[in-house]
Order: sequence, then structure tokens, then C-alpha cells
Amino acid sequence: MMVRRILVLLVLSMQVLSAQAKKPAKPPKQRELKPGFTMFGVDQDIEMGKAAIKEIEPTVTILDDPAMTAYIKRLGDTITSKIPNPPFPFTYKMVNDPQINAFCVPGGFVYVNTGILINAENESQVIGVMGHEIGHAILRHSANQMSKGMLLQGLATAGAMVGEMKGGVAGMAAQIGSGLGAQLAMMKFSRNHEKDADAFGARLMSQAGYNPIEIARFFEKMQQMAGGKQGGGVAGWMSSHPDPGSRSQLIEQEILAMPRATYGADTGDFARFKAAAARVVPAKPKVAPGGGQGTPAPDSTSVKGFSYFRGQTFEISYPKGWQAQGNPEADSLTVAPAEGVKQSGQSVAVGLGVIVSRYKSASGKGDLTRDTQALIQETVKGNQGMNQTQAPANRTIDGQPALLTMFTSPSPLERGNEMDLLVTIQRPDGLLYLVLICPESQWKNAEPVFDQIIGSIKLAK
Ligand SMILES: [Zn+2]
Repeated sequence: MMVRRILVLLVLSMQVLSAQAKKPAKPPKQRELKPGFTMFGVDQDIEMGKAAIKEIEPTVTILDDPAMTAYIKRLGDTITSKIPNPPFPFTYKMVNDPQINAFCVPGGFVYVNTGILINAENESQVIGVMGHEIGHAILRHSANQMSKGMLLQGLATAGAMVGEMKGGVAGMAAQIGSGLGAQLAMMKFSRNHEKDADAFGARLMSQAGYNPIEIARFFEKMQQMAGGKQGGGVAGWMSSHPDPGSRSQLIEQEILAMPRATYGADTGDFARFKAAAARVVPAKPKVAPGGGQGTPAPDSTSVKGFSYFRGQTFEISYPKGWQAQGNPEADSLTVAPAEGVKQSGQSVAVGLGVIVSRYKSASGKGDLTRDTQALIQETVKGNQGMNQTQAPANRTIDGQPALLTMFTSPSPLERGNEMDLLVTIQRPDGLLYLVLICPESQWKNAEPVFDQIIGSIKLAK
């Protein structure tokens, strides 16, 4: 896609610059772990975790083997005892599934597949996987992702465009806790989150007396398995944790920066439980989570090269590869390529992408011209440097009257302005609106893509 290619070039040229700035032969340095910004308290992590569990557990088979579960808990307790002031207690369950996978739900709920025990070569490797997952929970990556997602929904980009978000942040968090649990809690982490979890896990391993090099070896083993005949068993963790090669490198860097240690911790029980896990008759796979309303359905594309999203009152297609953050309850969606989003400090801004949301009319009855004017006023007031550059133009979208209004505002991606195309569509109680955003310099390339996105809209009748 043209839009993407240009941005990739931009990113590449930035990398060239930073490569030139690099100084040679630095001593090994530990990765700095910064907990990301979140809008939630730790209590809300636990609430969200509990809500997520309700959705996740029916989709897996929890292993009923008290001895094996106690062994995993013992390993977990060994490493979490090295965390100063853990913000929540950790609980452990085993999942009867021979795939290599483990996850930790926000709030400290750890799940380990039998496949981890079956495929690990020693206790250190099991500890390593668990330490990584515990790292995601302690560093509160889900809360960070969700907060960013909420900002993407409009809080940062258009403070005023939040007509639907009555109750503010607290209200949103409550909504997330009650409905969207699994989807939001289990969304993919960013590369930086994965690196932080790797570094965190490696340090815990070392502190607990396990050699962190073993988690790097486990990554390499997974990579070999993925390349060989046994590929199927690796799908779980590998699909959410790509690029084992560079991850081993990061672990090796971490080890170089660690104080010297001897690694003698081992319960001596690994071989017994590995054998027991291999004897467990695998449970039949259950229905995977997601796939419901509001879930991006990546393969049910209605347009070639496009993915598809269904909200409560609309359907829309967007370029494959763009990341979607949908909130079916607010009937809203933000889609953007990874390079189209810029985080600075506590705010996230979309510099290339599309925001879809609802605007409720003050009177409760939709009036396209009046509601569009009201939305424009709020938007311009809430976004410094934003200017309307054209009068609204009429159009029909899926049989409904609509208005297209063009704005410019400072771009978060590059020096200069972006163009913001506001599309407002009349609905019985207000507006469905889209903001299509792109740096001014790329607009000509983005326009055909945006046309396709607008043309794909289907409204609930
Ligand atoms: Zn991870």
C-alpha cells in the first residue's frame, strides 16, 4: 500500500540517522524497564483480570492434577518471591493442551499449558516462560495497552469527540471490566512490551538461582521446532512471540550486565512432572475466544487486501495490516498502521489512520447539518491548531445523507500539517462519524485508500 510504503521509508531514514549517531563499544547495559502509562489503578487490573478469566476459562480445559498444579505454583512462588512488594497475589492453573503456551491475565492469574512441561528441557526453561508472563502482569502491559486504546478512541486526538463516553475514564474502565475482558486483556503486546517482559523474566530467573541463558535456549528450540515437522505444537507462544533470534540476543545482553551468580536452584522434580505431563491425554480443543460482535475478523474480508470490523450499528473495511482497536459498546473503532500512531509522554495521537465513533445529538433527534456543526465546533475547540479548510460537501453513504468536511492540524508524525477529513453520517439519534487522518505530504496517496474505506461502510437499518 502506498501510504504504508512511504511511511516505511520515513522510518528507515530515521534508523539510518540513529545508526550514524551510535558510539562504538559500549559496556553491556541492562534494559531500562519503564512501566507504561495507564489510566487504571492496580485494583482495576484485578477486576479486569477476573472479567477476562470468565471469558477465557470456558475456552480452555483446566487440568485437574493437584500435584502438577502444586509444582507449577511452587516454581511461581519461587520467582515471585523475588519481586519487591508485588502489587497482587499470583494464582496458578495448568491448561491441558500440548501446545507450547502460557499466559498471565492482568492481576496475576498465571496459566501454563502442559505443552510447556512436555517441551522444556529443564526446570529453568519453565521458570523462564513463567517469569516472562509474570513480567507482563507486573509491568501492567495490558493496562497500558488498554489505556492507549482508549486514548486512540478519541480522548487524546479529539478531546471533544467523546460524546459517547459519558462517565469518563472510570466509566470506560468499568465497561471494560464488565464486557470486553478477554479481547482487551489478551490483545497482542507491542514489541517493546515483549522485550521488557523478556528482560524482567531473565532477571527474576537469575535472582531465583536459575540460569537465564536457558530461556534463550528455549526460544531457539521453539524456532527449530517451528521450522521442522513439529511446527504445530509451537503455534501458541510463537504466534504471539515472534522473532526468537533477536529475543535470545536481548537475553544474552541482559546476562552480560548481570552480577555474577551461580545457578544451582532446581527442585529435582522436573523430570517426574515432565513425564506426567506427557502422559496426560490432550483435551479436545474448545472454541477460540473472540469472533463475536465487534471483534475484528481478519479473514472475513469483504474487499481484497482489506480486513473487516463490525460495530453495533456499522460495518467497515480497512487495510489489512492496520491495527484495529474496537470498542463495540461505544460503537467505536480506531484503525491505524503501527507507524501511523505516535505516543509522546502520556498521550497517543493518530497521525495516519481512521477513527470511527458516534456523536449523540443534544435533542436526541438526528439533524445532519446542525449536529455536524456542533461536532465541528467541539472538535476545533478541543484540538489546538485545527482549522476547517473547506465548507461541508454533500454525499450519500449507504443510502444515508452525509457531509464531508476538511480540516488541517499539526501532524504528530512529521513537521508540517496533517489533513483531517471528517465524514458525518446522519443516524436517527445523532451522527456516525469518521475522521480520516493523514500527513498533508502523503494525502494524494492516502486518498484512494480512504475512498475505499468510506465506500465500505454499511449502516444498521
Ligand atoms: Zn509476552
